[in-house]
Amino acid sequence: MSSSEVENLIIIGGGPAGYTAALYAARAELDPLVFEGFQWGGQLQNTTEVENYPGFPEGIMGPEMMTRFREQAERFGTRFVSDDVDRVELSDGGIQKVYLGDEEHRAKAVILAMGAEPKRLGIPGEMELMGRGVSTCGVCDGAFFKDRSTMVIGGGDSAMEDAVFISKFASDLDLVHRRNEFRASKIMQERAESLPNIELKTPYVPEEFVAGEDGSLATVKLRCVDTDQVEDVPVDGAFIAIGHIPLSDIVKGQVDTDDEGYVITDPASTKTNLAGVFAVGDLVDHTYRQAITAAGSGCKGALDAEWYLRDADL
Ligand code: NDP
Repeated sequence: MSSSEVENLIIIGGGPAGYTAALYAARAELDPLVFEGFQWGGQLQNTTEVENYPGFPEGIMGPEMMTRFREQAERFGTRFVSDDVDRVELSDGGIQKVYLGDEEHRAKAVILAMGAEPKRLGIPGEMELMGRGVSTCGVCDGAFFKDRSTMVIGGGDSAMEDAVFISKFASDLDLVHRRNEFRASKIMQERAESLPNIELKTPYVPEEFVAGEDGSLATVKLRCVDTDQVEDVPVDGAFIAIGHIPLSDIVKGQVDTDDEGYVITDPASTKTNLAGVFAVGDLVDHTYRQAITAAGSGCKGALDAEWYLRDADL
């Protein structure tokens, strides 16, 4: 099945990057079509208070912010499809094809804004106990562990943020990291360290999540990196916060990606190695990964696409 119309621009992704690209493209009268995903809103959909997005001095809840981003893009005529793209056929300067099942959508340009998802540890019990004591989203699941023992694994800002949030509910929290030095920013680390029910446990790595008789998480086997000794730590909830992987599977092999799977763009723009294909947001960003940087990158993507559509002989 194929829609006969060739769109100017298809945007794949419904986070800050995709919606900002849509806003700029819609105001440029490109009439963009956004495949925002079934769970539109991206990672901010799983966030509570956002305090560092300029223009919101009192802070704003993540899902509300994404609703506003979406509404602003819609105000200028953006069309949305709340479904996940199954595959794409990208072309170097030709017609770009995007598929939902066998439903084909064609466009002169495409902006890739699929974002990233949480990394996993790859240890026994992790997937089996996901949702039964093991979680990758502290702000989503932290409140389930009121007056319970918890653990956060990771040493970056995400781990600190999760620990501070979960400690509001939990009786106690072990912050487990594989090195003695933390990657997190000083302010976030200090905030976590200052809380009386958070204990830093370094250098330790989890080896296994073990279920209790009721089938949910009861123990984490932790190995001390210095001594190699393994200890059983009883916990009710364990939160994995060890970074993210870019959601580039549908474009891998078609557009250039790096060793970690991030889409490679021209350093000064959002252009990929294929003419008419642009990439923005966490899909290309190893480093900053903020709503504001993703939004800024989405804006650049829309402008790059607009200039491409103006100048290319399509
Ligand atoms: P990071 O990549 O910064 O940190 C990941 C952490 O997990 C590292 O400490 C790493 O250890 C550890 N880790 C990775 N793999 C494993 C593994 N297999 N086993 C055990 N530990 C592992 O990711 P974050 O998600 O924390 O942050 C990403 C970016 O987002 C950063 O730029 C951060 O500043 C930003 N951010 C900002 C926030 C804010 O300002 N409010 C909130 C959250 C994130 P090691 O250090 O040894 O490599």
